[in-house]
Amino acid sequence: SNPVETLEFQAEARQLLQLMVHSIYSNKDIFLRELISNASDALDKLRLATMRDKDLVADASDLHIAIETDPEQRTLTVRDNGVGMSRDEVVELIGTIAKSGTAELLQKLREAQDSAAPQELIGQFGVGFYATFMVAEKVTLTTRRAGETDGTRWESAGEGTYTIETVADLPQGTAVTLHLKPADDDDRLFDYTAEWKIRQIVKQYSDFIAWPIRMAVAKPAPADTEGAEPAEPTTEVQTLNSQRALWARPRAEVSEEEYHEFYKHVSHDWRNPMEIISMRGEGTFEYEALLFIPSQAPFDLFNADTRRGLQLYVKRVQIMEHCDTLLPNYLRFIRGVVDAHDLSLNISREILQQDRQIQVMRRRLVKKVLQTLKELKTNDAERYLTFWQEFGQVLKEGLLEDADNQELLLELLLLPSTHDAERPTSLAEYVERMKDGQSSIFYLTGESRTMIENSPHIEAFRAREYEVLALTDPVDDVWVERVGEFAGQPLQSIAKGQIDLETEEEKQQAESTRAEQHKEYASLLEWLTKALSEDLKEVRLSSRLTTSPACIVGADHDVTPTMEKLYRAMGQ
Ligand code: ADP
Ligand code: MG
Repeated sequence: SNPVETLEFQAEARQLLQLMVHSIYSNKDIFLRELISNASDALDKLRLATMRDKDLVADASDLHIAIETDPEQRTLTVRDNGVGMSRDEVVELIGTIAKSGTAELLQKLREAQDSAAPQELIGQFGVGFYATFMVAEKVTLTTRRAGETDGTRWESAGEGTYTIETVADLPQGTAVTLHLKPADDDDRLFDYTAEWKIRQIVKQYSDFIAWPIRMAVAKPAPADTEGAEPAEPTTEVQTLNSQRALWARPRAEVSEEEYHEFYKHVSHDWRNPMEIISMRGEGTFEYEALLFIPSQAPFDLFNADTRRGLQLYVKRVQIMEHCDTLLPNYLRFIRGVVDAHDLSLNISREILQQDRQIQVMRRRLVKKVLQTLKELKTNDAERYLTFWQEFGQVLKEGLLEDADNQELLLELLLLPSTHDAERPTSLAEYVERMKDGQSSIFYLTGESRTMIENSPHIEAFRAREYEVLALTDPVDDVWVERVGEFAGQPLQSIAKGQIDLETEEEKQQAESTRAEQHKEYASLLEWLTKALSEDLKEVRLSSRLTTSPACIVGADHDVTPTMEKLYRAMGQ
């Protein structure tokens, strides 16, 4: 027979498990939501695999999820006949956490141990399968990958190690059995072998799951027939969820909570979304879309390797898990599903990219998302500010990628400014505050707010109470150049070229003094220009400075230092 191997969880996984075993969540019910969500994903994957690979030896005839309980043994099993996992996959997917940012998160968790609520922090991450260890003292997972003959049995008590062995004769798919913790006081409330409890959790968290979730339930005794002996209790298999696609239902009919649970299923996020966007296209090209703006940015938002995109369905059947053609890259934080009725079930990524109707749909989705953000900005400035802090930096990329929506994107900007150190401003607000005779929207880019505040460039502007935008994102340098102006006002870097800040009166006054100064300093300037000719084009007198003796100014179309850095980082 095959040997049983004992392996160690990866360090990060071990730490997360510790948190689960000593359960930090007050709501333990969600472990079942996670198991059902994984089972549902596995069924989606199997159907996709059979569509793509005609040679795959797999049974896709009765795809479903089954829940079994045994009150005496105190076990609960969630079973699916989906894609399953190979032995290597079990080690990789269950034994480790591959998500980028895990180490950082755990570091934060350790720091927050006693003070801040670790629950909040861990909620940013989601622990999926590991949630089972909140309620189970031991978890057994058996699985066979579709198309393979051998299966795998995995078992762990959540403490550092797990055992794994290869076993024959397993059905296709995965079964996860929880050996529930012994009953304690809580258990009167949380008996996870009770039929009503399972029903309640499935209804609450997983009703929309597209696959049937079945359970054998006690059959109501037949109405007493005369003189008959009391009937043996019998069971019947029932489907616990309605399986109704949320995106196909009228918005008014779906509760906030249902939307939230659906969001958690598609996004693998544990928090509620910030905004729900539902839309429907009718006519020649029918589609439904249900999109979500998350409430917080994921750790890997700027990680190029992360797979992204909306889920693509054709008439309720998922045909792509990460369809990145439906939205531009700068909206990669949006989650959700699109159900397009007229696509072919086995459409390829390449054809999708060229499909004219998809292009039309994509334009509408983008418009709708940006419009929603605009409304949020107008109607709820506080919430929009939160959104901006999470996703503003990504949204700005749109100014480089999406010329069609430049106008709208500019309206969505919130930029730090010297007007108010605490609150960023919109460009429209800046323009409203512009002083009489102010010729441009002034900005300065730099690595940090402090660097900008302390820059000699800003002195004259501060002295004259001109507002200056303090732009610190690397992408800022690029978009301000590209965009050039807002509402007819040019965007002007105060580190470049000559900026005329003087009034007519001051000018006349200054004229005479300057003529004198020029005479007085001519030889010094000439000498400096010569002495520094390797590094500078010209040394000239300036009216910009108030306290610093000198500053370096770029020519109008020079590359700024941050831009130089950005280009270097991009390998140019
Ligand atoms: P997530 O679902 O967010 O990826 P989980 O911890 O819930 O994280 O699951 C980790 C991985 O284990 C899944 O991504 C999936 O690849 C695999 N997995 C879990 N449950 C199943 C299952 N029932 N069938 C097939 N694979 C599964
Ligand atoms: Mg999961």
